[in-house]
Amino acid sequence: MNKTVKRIVVILIILILLPAAFLTINEVISLNQNEEVIGRIYSNQLDAILYSVNQYSEDVVSSWASRIDLFLDEVSGMNEEKNPVKVDSFYNQFPSLLSVFVADSINDKQVKFLGLNEKDQYIRFDKSKFDLLINKLLTKNQTIVQRLFTYKQAGYRKLEPVETDSSGGESILLFVGQTPTGKNRMTGMVIDPKEFTYRILSPKIQEIAQQEFVISVFNLDENFQFNSSIDFKVKEVQQSKALWIFPNYSIGISIVGQTIEDLVQQRAITNILLIGLLTIVLLIGVWIVYRNIKKEVELAQIKSDFVSNVSHELRTPLSLISMFSETLEMDRIKSEEKKKEYYSIISQEANRLSKIVNSILNFSKMEAGKRQFSFVDSYLNDVAENVYHSYKFHLEQKGFTFNIAKDETIPIIKIDEEAVSEAIVNLVDNAVKYSANNKEITVRTGLERNYAFIEVEDKGIGIPEKDQKKIFDKFFRVSSGNVHNVKGSGIGLSIVRHIVDAHKGKIELSSEVNKGSKFRLLFPLN
Ligand code: ADP
Repeated sequence: MNKTVKRIVVILIILILLPAAFLTINEVISLNQNEEVIGRIYSNQLDAILYSVNQYSEDVVSSWASRIDLFLDEVSGMNEEKNPVKVDSFYNQFPSLLSVFVADSINDKQVKFLGLNEKDQYIRFDKSKFDLLINKLLTKNQTIVQRLFTYKQAGYRKLEPVETDSSGGESILLFVGQTPTGKNRMTGMVIDPKEFTYRILSPKIQEIAQQEFVISVFNLDENFQFNSSIDFKVKEVQQSKALWIFPNYSIGISIVGQTIEDLVQQRAITNILLIGLLTIVLLIGVWIVYRNIKKEVELAQIKSDFVSNVSHELRTPLSLISMFSETLEMDRIKSEEKKKEYYSIISQEANRLSKIVNSILNFSKMEAGKRQFSFVDSYLNDVAENVYHSYKFHLEQKGFTFNIAKDETIPIIKIDEEAVSEAIVNLVDNAVKYSANNKEITVRTGLERNYAFIEVEDKGIGIPEKDQKKIFDKFFRVSSGNVHNVKGSGIGLSIVRHIVDAHKGKIELSSEVNKGSKFRLLFPLN
């Protein structure tokens, strides 16, 4: 039996636990990689959002450049001082555009501002500031200017930001425009990036960010930060990029609530918890399967033991009966006395056979839940007395001292007499079977609180403590001591328990190895 159970354990381990452990380890290892991949995908997404903001701002200024170019043609010759109103309303179309200037050629440092006359009469701007701003601007940024012209020759108008010496925070964007006569015109836009952020970018950023992200435009040197969400507690942005049109400024993005790291970590923790939980469930499942299989295997073993025990028990009386009846048949026995003795042995063994068969039938009825009991008013003492008398001679023949002690105060109780005497007979049978040298058996009746009891006491081999509960289980037989020399099927005590249960009674057992056992059956008084 142990072999089978061991084999099942090995199979369970190979089939379920090993793959499960392998999967779990694999899952935990790949978890990190997965999280990395997810983190990367996420950050790519954030990058794409930042890219779109950059693209948008470039589109805006590039459309400005086209309109500026057209307007410059309109007020050609820079005679704008003749029409200050027109210039003014032009500027009003471009929030954050501080000024437009034109430089006639690369080397010519003469720069003309749109909206500012020679005598500074129309003062839209602080001229000194712009002088400072544009000073050496073009010569300093020769390469950029060169590049812009090259692009222009290729038919493509490009915008390039250039660095300024100004401390006012203005940004300059250069592009090459064209006069109606086909001449190239180096043009510049002076833009206030903060104003640009508030007036132009803000609505777009808010539209992109919605509730999920906070998009920020910031310039740490100037301690400037604009966030798309007002109630956003300014924290470090998770990802940022330089703004193409204002290189001193950056755009950043962060997720509302948790950071990517938070999310990724949370996911990892949930996954590991889930895996842990799964493993535990799996282990419990395996344990339950193991328990069930072990029980089944044990039961199968017990059943096969039962069959062999019963066959063994049946064989002895059968062989005795056939032996003695054959002897009688052959007429070999002459003495009448001997014949009588043989006949009595045959009838005794036949009785024993029918008792065994009956108890098996009773047992199977009981197992099927079909055994019926009929409770009638009875004297427990009478039941005890009957069993005592029918066994007395037989036991004394076998060398037993058989005693009875009755408590005469026991009242009438409702019991199934036949069933109760069957229970007592089973107990007496066991007392006989499991007695060694000290052959003394006592049947006793009495009262104990609300119960009337009948008990059978022997001075036999006793029952080890650990087995005392199990002996009432069907097919169970104590495996130690000399029990195996004694025939039995392991169903006697389970029948006893069934009968007592049907009476709503109790069984008390006191037993000590090599000293004897006492089985007390208690029946409720009312
Ligand atoms: P069995 O047919 O084996 O006697 P039972 O159900 O009557 O089956 O008893 C179960 C087991 O309990 C026995 O095999 C024996 O080991 C133990 N047992 C029962 N009665 C006694 C007793 N009076 N003394 C010692 N052991 C007993």
